[in-house]
Amino acid sequence: MPLKKNLRQMFFWVLAFTLLIAMYQNVKSVPREKQIPYSEFKAKLKAKEISTVLISPGLIKGEFKEGDKKISFKTISLSDPKLIEDMETAGVGSFSGEADKSWITSLLLNVGWILIFVFLWWFLFMRQAQMGGKQAMGFGKSKAKQQDLKKQKVTFKDVAGCEETKEELSDIVDYLKNPKKYRRLGGELPKGVLLYGPPGTGKTLLARAIAGEAGVPFFTSSGSEFVEMFVGVGASRVRDLFERAKKSAPAIVFVDELDAVGRSRFAGIGGGHDEREQTLNQMLVELDGFEANEGIILIGATNRPDVLDTALLRPGRFDRRINVPVPDIQGRLEILKVHSKKVKLAEGTDLSVIARHTPGFVGADLANIVNEAAILASKKDKKGVEVGDFEEAIEKMIAGPQRRSRIISDREKKIVAYHEAGHALVARSLPGSDPVHKISIIPRGPALGYTLQLPLEDKYLTSKTEILNKLCVLLGGRAAEELVFSEITTGAQDDLSKVTNYAQKMVLEFGMSDKIGPISLKKDEAEVFLGRDIMRQPGYSNETAKNVDDEVTRIVAECHVKAREILSSSRSVLDAIAARLIEKEVVDASEMEAFFSAGKSAA
Ligand code: ADP
Ligand code: MG
Ligand code: ZN
Repeated sequence: MPLKKNLRQMFFWVLAFTLLIAMYQNVKSVPREKQIPYSEFKAKLKAKEISTVLISPGLIKGEFKEGDKKISFKTISLSDPKLIEDMETAGVGSFSGEADKSWITSLLLNVGWILIFVFLWWFLFMRQAQMGGKQAMGFGKSKAKQQDLKKQKVTFKDVAGCEETKEELSDIVDYLKNPKKYRRLGGELPKGVLLYGPPGTGKTLLARAIAGEAGVPFFTSSGSEFVEMFVGVGASRVRDLFERAKKSAPAIVFVDELDAVGRSRFAGIGGGHDEREQTLNQMLVELDGFEANEGIILIGATNRPDVLDTALLRPGRFDRRINVPVPDIQGRLEILKVHSKKVKLAEGTDLSVIARHTPGFVGADLANIVNEAAILASKKDKKGVEVGDFEEAIEKMIAGPQRRSRIISDREKKIVAYHEAGHALVARSLPGSDPVHKISIIPRGPALGYTLQLPLEDKYLTSKTEILNKLCVLLGGRAAEELVFSEITTGAQDDLSKVTNYAQKMVLEFGMSDKIGPISLKKDEAEVFLGRDIMRQPGYSNETAKNVDDEVTRIVAECHVKAREILSSSRSVLDAIAARLIEKEVVDASEMEAFFSAGKSAA
């Protein structure tokens, strides 16, 4: 190994140099002169005992006789203008001066020390770099590991509860298996695939499964490996990683936690982060650099697709984006099945009970629960893991601080189900609303559930009817709660703030209120922004302000009434949707449609 040899050589030189200097200093100080005071020197001079004198700046050396012996001496020279005269009268055998030659010695000495320090620093630095990457030798080499395919192979079977995601990934696997089939017709596969979803949903696992399925070399690395203290190191690691991958193409390069490098470049306050920016730029260069038919696919994973730099998401880069969602009740059951293969279940243990009790749990949570349950059961010397052990494990997990918010009781689940069903049913009943795409009561961030409406086409103009419909839909959640539970919850807070906002806009900005008329009362926002207008005056009279408030209240009240009417007139449909939501947590468009038409024909 060249590095080892270098190191040894360097070490030798450092040692040799140190020895040399030490020796030089020793030799120099071998003739030990006797240090005497200047007065003694003068006394000896007067007594004519001094035989030779050598005067250098600040120092006088020489020899004096003591009996038969000659003894070397030195003394600090003092300003003594009569010294030469005295020496002449004393008849000193030889006296001479010496220029200050010490500068050359000191220079040599200093250079020596500097060299030693440089060598030492270099030596330490190289050692650190060597320790950094076990196989990699340089600082700028990628630490990415090439996964051993034979060892612990992960396949799609190990990833459960995300069938759609696997479906989307399977053609990439297929491409890597027989690239010729795809190239024949000139098809190009994406260079970059971005897996995104909440933490613990199995993104890393999926990437490993792709490699296992495709049977190609798989280079794993993590975004944080590219973020180093020194500018340029990350970029060179990226370069190195892609070089290695290209050598063994077709191959997969996986960058986990992509947001560590891929964060938007302009997000920081004041001054950029040079290192990360360079790394990101290098990654973009690599992505642009390789042709799609080179057989390299870059897979990135992130929990935060929203913070990624838009340049990464441009066509030709990470243009295939695949969502890895929080699993629904069926998905959770599948994941539990996968993980409980490793443990011994007691006879008759029904995992679907566990799945039902864990809304909002992700794959990592469920894996954890299975493991915890197995430990609990072993502690009690049971023959197999029972439902009770799972329940205990779930409770333990929920008690943990970060999960507390995730779990919902059965009653809460019912309320959320009716709330979302209310939104959906109102939306479906009002002509001209955006079609309901999906209803879900799987918690997602702060929201306990959501109803997804997708517009049929892009819209740039919105009519008054459409806004009113939207208000009805937003109020449908609260209305359903009132209708069914005769009690309301805080769950509608977000809906209500949206409702108020829209209603105010209708009156103030869009001129959609008959009472106020086609007037936009909104003030130019730029003024506020510039801070000139802090004591902002409404720009209209108190009377108008009252009218605005009245109008907003009226619009909201009317929409509320309408939403309630819709829901109470098709209560059976509402009940059916809510029941299905409680059972399955997700209802899609076609199921929704079936319930709706069943309700229609029954009426
Ligand atoms: P992410 O990368 O999305 O944060 P991981 O892939 O690291 O999540 O998942 C952590 C662990 O959780 C996995 O090793 C696996 O044991 C378990 N896990 C997560 N999702 C699933 C899934 N869909 N199916 C089976 N196991 C899963
Ligand atoms: Mg991960
Ligand atoms: Zn709502």
